[in-house]
Amino acid sequence: MKVIHSISQMSICSRKIKANGQSIGFVPTMGALHQGHLSLIKKAKRDCDVVVISIFVNPTQFGPQEDFKKYPRSFANDKKLAQKAGIDFLFAPAAEEIYPSNYCTYIKVKNLDERLCGAFRPGHFQGVATIVHKLLNIVQPNIAYFGQKDFQQAVIIKTMVRNLNIPVKIRVLPTVREKDGLAMSSRNRYLNEREKKDASILFQTLQLAKEMVEKGEKNSAKVISGMKKILGRVPDAKIDYVSIVNPENLEDVRLIDKKILVALAVWIGKVRLIDNMLIDEKPETRMTNGE
Ligand code: AMP
Repeated sequence: MKVIHSISQMSICSRKIKANGQSIGFVPTMGALHQGHLSLIKKAKRDCDVVVISIFVNPTQFGPQEDFKKYPRSFANDKKLAQKAGIDFLFAPAAEEIYPSNYCTYIKVKNLDERLCGAFRPGHFQGVATIVHKLLNIVQPNIAYFGQKDFQQAVIIKTMVRNLNIPVKIRVLPTVREKDGLAMSSRNRYLNEREKKDASILFQTLQLAKEMVEKGEKNSAKVISGMKKILGRVPDAKIDYVSIVNPENLEDVRLIDKKILVALAVWIGKVRLIDNMLIDEKPETRMTNGE
């Protein structure tokens, strides 16, 4: 595995790989690698000749009061995990190289960036879209891999790629979870034992939504109210949002008559966690031809 810090060196390597007729699979990350990241890497290895991952804690996607400074950084361990996973290139640029002092260009994916998390983290998705666009330009992958855990991020990136004609395929892979259902996340490292147990309430809440919808509940407000009741069992849980939206445009859905995304952001103590689930409407209403 080759570790690269400079943008120009990464671009040169990518160009050589492409000139050799090999395909590049790319997994952008902020490091503190876990099984969620590794699942993306595994898929990239299966699909592509060469796998590049980036580790970059992107300052422009953190608000002034957010956890940029204390975001978990474990580069030495990440390097070992990346090597073990069979990655070819680890790209870890310095912030000053990505954003020199005169930096002034940002990507905004309108409307989508204001829904769900965007309403609570102004500017977050502009930072995400900007860094992903820059990384795609530098690494020039054939396929880039993202996790469903950050569903809104994936929708925004797919939209950006489509709107700006960026020559890359975007693949979104399922959320990897702990045994109790907690979605793996680098931020789970902030949770103490007690909070980690409490945090499994997010998944239980999503499961309740799934049960209600599959039993035929069509009224989003009722599902959301049932979910909030469950979250109320954890006294330390503070809800940013519990939403039912159209997975294509992230607009609120009132009547559940097609596939929906149930998404939530909840603080457990001082840690903000997000999770989501795609749910089909009551399955038997869609069955045709005896399937
Ligand atoms: P991050 O390092 O948190 O920015 O995540 C890098 C990529 O890994 C993003 O595309 C995330 O959506 C994805 N990812 C993070 N957690 C998980 C998970 N539990 N399962 C699958 N993918 C994940």
